[in-house]
Amino acid sequence: MSPVAAAKNEVTSCKFENLLMISVEEAFVAIETASSISANRKTETVALPQSVGRVIAKEVFSDVDSPPHNKSVMDGFAVQAADIAAGVRDFRVLETIVAGKLPNQKVIAGTTSRIMTGAPLPEGADSIVMIEMANIGYSDPTPDVVTLSVTLPFPKGRHQMPRAGNFARGQLIFSVGHRIRPVDVGLLAEIGAATVDVYCRTRVSVLPTGDELVDCRSVPAASQIRNSNGPMITAIASGWGCDVAELGIGIDNRAALEAKIDEGLQQDVMILSGGVSAGTMDLVPEVLASMGVEQIFHKVKVKPGKPIFFGVLNGPTRRCLVFGLPGNPVSSLVGMHLFVSTAVSILSGIPETKARPPRFESLLTEPHQTRGDRPTFWPGRQTGKDPRQVQPLKWNGSSDLLSLRDAEGLIHFPVRETPFGAGDAVKFLPFFPQ
Ligand code: AMP
Ligand code: MG
Repeated sequence: MSPVAAAKNEVTSCKFENLLMISVEEAFVAIETASSISANRKTETVALPQSVGRVIAKEVFSDVDSPPHNKSVMDGFAVQAADIAAGVRDFRVLETIVAGKLPNQKVIAGTTSRIMTGAPLPEGADSIVMIEMANIGYSDPTPDVVTLSVTLPFPKGRHQMPRAGNFARGQLIFSVGHRIRPVDVGLLAEIGAATVDVYCRTRVSVLPTGDELVDCRSVPAASQIRNSNGPMITAIASGWGCDVAELGIGIDNRAALEAKIDEGLQQDVMILSGGVSAGTMDLVPEVLASMGVEQIFHKVKVKPGKPIFFGVLNGPTRRCLVFGLPGNPVSSLVGMHLFVSTAVSILSGIPETKARPPRFESLLTEPHQTRGDRPTFWPGRQTGKDPRQVQPLKWNGSSDLLSLRDAEGLIHFPVRETPFGAGDAVKFLPFFPQ
């Protein structure tokens, strides 16, 4: 073939390939659709300390008012604001009210009760004067008469919080689909949620494939590399709260792959890595097809990670979403972060509208050039005083895991012919969104 004909041929096959490739947006939609059908409806009840990371399956209401009574938010003296406004300075002290005890006496004009932070306001009182404005020190015994020197104006309600000022008994506090974070646990405890109804964990199997792979405990021979994807994918899925079944390393052999895949398809999601490109030993898509996995897409316009496969096994007794991630570790990572995460979120009970990885408007710290006709997801980190600034890291491509050590997420560069300049707007997808 002449060089010109060869070039033409290449152009034609490239175009053909582009037709088969779907966009990132189309891939998200396909995953959301398939995942919603699979979505987890099984629930279980877990004790509060074990609920972190789980997704709420039943609305949680408060069984208390917060605060439960009109409450002092200062150590001081409970008074009627009208007394202070009228210029009264000396007050007869009725009692001392501490947190955890109820008051016994009603505050009337000219009287006060000493009160501690968190204690219930006595009947009749509407405001608190801070101890700092009294003629006694913090540790002095309570006198019979106290002089309060208050700077005016002194509005009614000062330094007290009304009953149910935060929320009321019977109020909806957590909706279905909320993922419980450590910061939520205090509130759950306050409202009496000693146990929480959550969705069951999504069950995931992980199968890295490739004849060249050895376990990380081995020293690789000349033609071998260590299996980095298996542990990485397992760790990421565990971090999402999945129950992960590791299937060891799959070799590039049909029968051997069939046996492992059959095991993996027992779970809600199966994640394979390697063997999905166009090499002679890339057997994963055909073995999946032979086992009844229906291909939804194979190849997405994304860089890195183009050869990603997504399919569904819709059997009479089992349904499994199957991802075949390209073997290069950063390609696998991008597939996990964009696509597998979306499926797992939906399966785990997160509403479909919140399932995609969050992306934030950011500004580049330095110029950057991407090539080709696929949007690029490039390792980056937030830097500088302005948290919106992101820096693209030095990165050698999809096999280079070293830059991930310093990366905090992926910078999304849309396809563009001209280089990106410092200050240009891009999207940033953090690995650990807040
Ligand atoms: P493949 O997708 O099987 O064509 O693999 C693409 C590249 O990724 C090759 O250089 C593989 O050696 C490498 N690779 C495949 N699987 C893994 C793995 N589990 N860990 C690290 N590298 C891998
Ligand atoms: Mg391979």
